[in-house]
Amino acid sequence: MKIILLGAPGSGKGTLAKKISNDFHIPQISTGDLFRAIVKEDSPLGQKVKSLIDKGQLVPDDVTIEIVKKRTAEEDCRNGYILDGFPRTIDQAKALEKLTHIDSIILVDLSFDTIIKRLSSRRTCPACGEIYSLLNYTSSECEKCGAKLIQRDDDKPDVIQNRLEVYEKNTAPLINFYSDRLFKVSSEGTPDETYKSVKTFLESSEAK
Ligand code: ADP
Ligand code: ZN
Repeated sequence: MKIILLGAPGSGKGTLAKKISNDFHIPQISTGDLFRAIVKEDSPLGQKVKSLIDKGQLVPDDVTIEIVKKRTAEEDCRNGYILDGFPRTIDQAKALEKLTHIDSIILVDLSFDTIIKRLSSRRTCPACGEIYSLLNYTSSECEKCGAKLIQRDDDKPDVIQNRLEVYEKNTAPLINFYSDRLFKVSSEGTPDETYKSVKTFLESSEAK
């Protein structure tokens, strides 16, 4: 099963992807996580990617498409995968159509007000990637691995604004691109509520 998760930054794609990944035994491919790993390598590419991410801008399509091609060719992807954060432009979506057939496209829908609240209270574990919210988690350490939680630089207010503008301009047009085959889920409720309706949808499409 191959799945795309569409949605604005902070809409809850990553949290949802992790739940699907656990239940359906397919890997989560987060291009944001792949890029953050490249940044840690401290290569010339890493430095270029870092400066784009820090500003809330997109990494160029050719670079992005290449890393997705490479990642999806790995052994653990043979039964499918969840794309979290890709495609983010029409050109990426067209490249993906050439690469493979996608079974399900899910739009994670959230109001702008809630997005801003959630992004500014988001904390992440730099060691294992777990995502937390100050709205419901008060410890400063990761529950899973004990590492000290951080606020991503691009979750700071001035960059959030820029990421949302980039989303509106480049990524929101994908909603039209996929309009005839989009499953839309609201993420205003709890992560479990959101996941429940997605799970029902995926199970019914799997049975077809
Ligand atoms: P969020 O969805 O919360 O904005 P991500 O972790 O998905 O965060 O992405 C962080 C950054 O990585 C983006 O702002 C962008 O710079 C880069 N990035 C991630 N996915 C893509 C993509 N498909 N195309 C271009 N850049 C990307
Ligand atoms: Zn952790």
